[in-house]
Amino acid sequence: MPERFDVIVAGVGGMGSAAAYHLARRGRKVLGLERYTIPNEMGSSHGVSRIIRLAYFEHPSYVPLLRRSFELWRELEAGAGQGQLLHMTGCLHVGAPGTTVLEGCLRSCHEHDLQHEVLNSAEVSRRFPAYRLPAETMAVLEAEGGFLVPERCIQAHAAGARAAGAELREGEAVIAWEPAGRGVQVRTERGEYEADRLILTAGSWNGKLAARFAHLLEPERQVLAWLRVSRPELFAQGAFPVFVMEVPEGMYYGFPLFAEGPPGFKLGRLHHRREVVDPDLLDRGGADATDEALLRDFAARYLPAGAGPAEAMKVCMFTNTPDEHFLIDLHPELPQVILGAGFSGHGFKFCSVVGEVLADLALEGETRHDIGLFSASRFQRELTAR
Ligand SMILES: Cc1cc2nc3c(=O)[nH]c(=O)nc-3n(C[C@H](O)[C@H](O)[C@H](O)COP(=O)(O)OP(=O)(O)OC[C@H]3O[C@@H](n4cnc5c(N)ncnc54)[C@H](O)[C@@H]3O)c2cc1C
Repeated sequence: MPERFDVIVAGVGGMGSAAAYHLARRGRKVLGLERYTIPNEMGSSHGVSRIIRLAYFEHPSYVPLLRRSFELWRELEAGAGQGQLLHMTGCLHVGAPGTTVLEGCLRSCHEHDLQHEVLNSAEVSRRFPAYRLPAETMAVLEAEGGFLVPERCIQAHAAGARAAGAELREGEAVIAWEPAGRGVQVRTERGEYEADRLILTAGSWNGKLAARFAHLLEPERQVLAWLRVSRPELFAQGAFPVFVMEVPEGMYYGFPLFAEGPPGFKLGRLHHRREVVDPDLLDRGGADATDEALLRDFAARYLPAGAGPAEAMKVCMFTNTPDEHFLIDLHPELPQVILGAGFSGHGFKFCSVVGEVLADLALEGETRHDIGLFSASRFQRELTAR
């Protein structure tokens, strides 16, 4: 007889670690299956830092989730004994009037009455001298921003899940699953299991585990670089908030210097070179001179003291939905299967609350959080066209 669990979580090297944590703490018998290690550098959740911010330009309805996310991160940090998970640096949202970053961020500030300051380019350069911005550029500065240390966050969730009784197995990939009555049967490289519920949090591999959604979950190659700085004091924590900047060349994001990571100013470009990839074939060591030039050119123009050669580069993946909002819902035909997918390059900051939401969906079939924006039904047309 296959071993039986209340809930199986497929993929616990990222977001899934938080789902396992919340489920185990609610007393459920949980099996978390991870094809690599917890954490690992094969998916989407590595690279030492991830921005968290409240004034969300992507859509104001993320703001209540972010409030809960901050609360849960702080609780986890206080209880986990894994050191500091959250570093508050403030966040600067930079763009010309009319850009998505600037207008979307102001919309969230106004709809949710968020504290913020609006700065012009001269004020930005005076307060944060690393910047050299075109005259028309504006910025929104919010104190409720900073970065998380993703590897530690995942370790903290996994350790908390294990302490509460969850079994998390590393090096064991889910190969297939199928409905079995009202539950599921899951086959891995090592055996077969049964459960009442299955949560799919396999990141860029979700499309392989749920082929019905594959065309809605597009893995995309990303590159992060740590660039040598000529004036470290301009990029130090305290002098340099995390930022998101929209300029004609694209949308970029960056971090202050951080002793726990490679040396240098960490910088990335959203949808780096717009390369769709197969997560099983992606060359993780393959960051090249073109990748580096793309990031150094941006820095040379707007943050010139941070435009030196790359000290380190890492390859990572986004999993994009067509509208770049998450896909978090019950499977439309199989409500015993829950999707935690399509985090479209901005999901990490939400891990703590998404874990809670996925646990709610698995145990109650619904959640008190407003996740309407993430429903599978918004893709009804794309799902029925197949
Ligand atoms: C370069 C980069 C920068 C980013 N910056 C930010 C940021 O600043 N702020 C922010 O909020 N977000 C950011 N993101 C996005 C965020 O990191 C992701 O949305 C989030 O990490 C996605 O987590 P995930 O759990 O879906 O995927 P993953 O972290 O990839 O986790 C999926 C796990 O499932 C495992 N798995 C896959 N298939 C199987 C299987 N068959 N069986 C068992 N296990 C399996 C994988 O090994 C992996 O461990 C960034 C992403 C990248 C790539």
